[in-house]
Amino acid sequence: MLIRDIGEFNLIKRLSNNFVKTKRPVIVGIGDDSAVLNSSGSRLQLMTTDMLVENVHFRLSTANPFQIGWKSLAVNISDIAAMGGEPTYACVSIGLPKNTDVDFVDKLYLGMQEVADKYSVDIVGGDTVSSPQVIINIALLGEVELENLMLRSSAKEGDYIFVTGDVGGSSAGLEILERQLPINGTEKHLMPIPRVQEAGLLAKSGYVTAMIDISDGVSSEIYHICEQSNTGARIFLKDIPLSDNTYKVAKTIGKDPYDFALYGGEDYELLFTCRPDGASYVKELFLNRCDTPLTCIGHITANWLSLVIEDENGVPLPLKPAGYNHFVDNQ
Ligand code: ADP
Ligand code: MG
Repeated sequence: MLIRDIGEFNLIKRLSNNFVKTKRPVIVGIGDDSAVLNSSGSRLQLMTTDMLVENVHFRLSTANPFQIGWKSLAVNISDIAAMGGEPTYACVSIGLPKNTDVDFVDKLYLGMQEVADKYSVDIVGGDTVSSPQVIINIALLGEVELENLMLRSSAKEGDYIFVTGDVGGSSAGLEILERQLPINGTEKHLMPIPRVQEAGLLAKSGYVTAMIDISDGVSSEIYHICEQSNTGARIFLKDIPLSDNTYKVAKTIGKDPYDFALYGGEDYELLFTCRPDGASYVKELFLNRCDTPLTCIGHITANWLSLVIEDENGVPLPLKPAGYNHFVDNQ
């Protein structure tokens, strides 16, 4: 059997089933955006890691080192934000070919440091090795108050499903870069903005029941929330927020624009569920406290595996969890 036959998520499940368990308490282990651990202080400790690999996550011909550095820390911060937390300390490990220009590495770290500065992260260590291609792996800690902790597993029937910002823009941006299209809109792909402030507002609102960041596509993230909350979901295609550039790219290359949002990924927006009695409060909160748009795209239903998407004509179709999956051939 090859790893391409089972895919990324089944491989993680298979590996983690065999992990040795100590007596140390783990509040949340594998399966959420970050692990949640007890700390000696009043706040819980969050821990996450993400890796970016040349020619898998970026190309040196289309992303500059500043952007690569920015993205490598931003995507980790996004996983801490998705738990309702704030990032604190990072260890940065880099693999570089021997002939890499020192200036490249300086710029990589300038990008990383700009994000670190913006979100108050201290880089406190790492590792530096030679490798056949550029690899950046960051391990990031964060903190959250117990009452603000946001999990994937606590959505309830009747909750509304919201997304922040617009979705699909990152994979549309990737198409612009790969096909050298004369269309603006590559920022979201090259330099995603982690939604830390927004996640904090949502976590403290008291109405948000579950949260995840969109790294693999809306369909995949809804699947994760529903699987872990043992619920279903119904979403409405026409309500999914797309940017003008995303429509433009889709039209230019003859693709359904909603496919970028559902199956594309790397938007690093938040997808969350909200108690129905708090939906107008949360919308109001966003209007008053930040510039980020908020859109309701559907609701949570009772039955696990009843994942439905209504198309533009109101026809219900099964929602496939077909986001980006390492090892299988993504279209
Ligand atoms: P995200 O997209 O939020 O970064 P992933 O899909 O990468 O999350 O990972 C899903 C879950 O599986 C996370 O809890 C992550 O920590 C865990 N995980 C991923 N790869 C491994 C691995 N090789 N060993 C142990 N846990 C892993
Ligand atoms: Mg995540």
